[in-house]
Amino acid sequence: MMEGDHDDKAMVLERIGAALEWRPLAERRPGPGELRVRVGACGVCRTDLHVVDGELPRPKLPIVPGHEIVGRVELVGAGVTGFRIGERVGIPWLGRTCGVCPYCVDGRENLCDRPLFTGYTTDGGFATVAVADARYAFPLGEEGSDVALAPLLCAGLIGWRSLGMAGPGARLGVYGFGAAGHIVAQVARWQGRSVYAFTRPGDAATQAFARQGGAVWAGGSDEVPPAELDAAIIYAPVGDLVPLALKAVRKGGRVVCAGIHMSDIPRFPYEILWEERQLLTVANLTRKDALEFLSLAPTIGIRTVTTTYPLAEANRALADLRAGRFEGAAVLVP
Ligand SMILES: [Zn+2]
Ligand SMILES: [Zn+2]
Repeated sequence: MMEGDHDDKAMVLERIGAALEWRPLAERRPGPGELRVRVGACGVCRTDLHVVDGELPRPKLPIVPGHEIVGRVELVGAGVTGFRIGERVGIPWLGRTCGVCPYCVDGRENLCDRPLFTGYTTDGGFATVAVADARYAFPLGEEGSDVALAPLLCAGLIGWRSLGMAGPGARLGVYGFGAAGHIVAQVARWQGRSVYAFTRPGDAATQAFARQGGAVWAGGSDEVPPAELDAAIIYAPVGDLVPLALKAVRKGGRVVCAGIHMSDIPRFPYEILWEERQLLTVANLTRKDALEFLSLAPTIGIRTVTTTYPLAEANRALADLRAGRFEGAAVLVP
């Protein structure tokens, strides 16, 4: 393997459960239809922890994690149109879809039978440079810093999709007020909804963060909110929250599980689901979600709260995410 012209490096997962290793990156030229992007910032997502911990099946190994990439186009492969060198782009979790399976054909490419996912089955953005399929990269414009925009690429996009799945109800519960929760709360408020934020019991710091972020109420996940909820979205990967959320929503209400992995859901009595309550999951995103949300984000004026880490300290960022040591989102900067 040749090393890159730019002395490029990445944080690489060699095997499940290992720490990421700081490695030289072989030079990659963009293939037909691809972009090479100089990474300006890459967000850290709970899904990265699931990849590292082996909670998702069949990752590519070794893998460069990271699927909230903000960077600038450095090289364009053959046949790429619509991007210019130096343009700022975002690269999300959805790395490629097949275009021909029944899900792709009927507009649900998020469920594609043969997808590639950035930072999981194709190399991602915990690196100084990344290569992506241009059809799944999105222009970001020049408003906002790379660091501020990075969390929009997954926390924001999955948040947006899960908000749609929650339906139009005015009273929205958010279980787990982290990267996605703090973005979704701003979008929901902009839509005129009231947000009820649930944190780990006793986590006064995150409850205060949620109130600052516009929640009308914040409390522990074991608490009963002051009003019946129309819908609730669960971002924390904790199955115990499902029956709690079902009890908090009204008749006909929805509970949306937005994570890619969750601990087992405990047994619960049928009566908490009865009366047309619905339990849903959100998987991945479509390009339509990305275009909608990224074009709306500047109008909403979303302010992300971030903690930055040097790229080489990705392991510390992951450990801090696991332990809940920061509010908002962690972002790696090369
Ligand atoms: Zn993610
Ligand atoms: Zn497909």
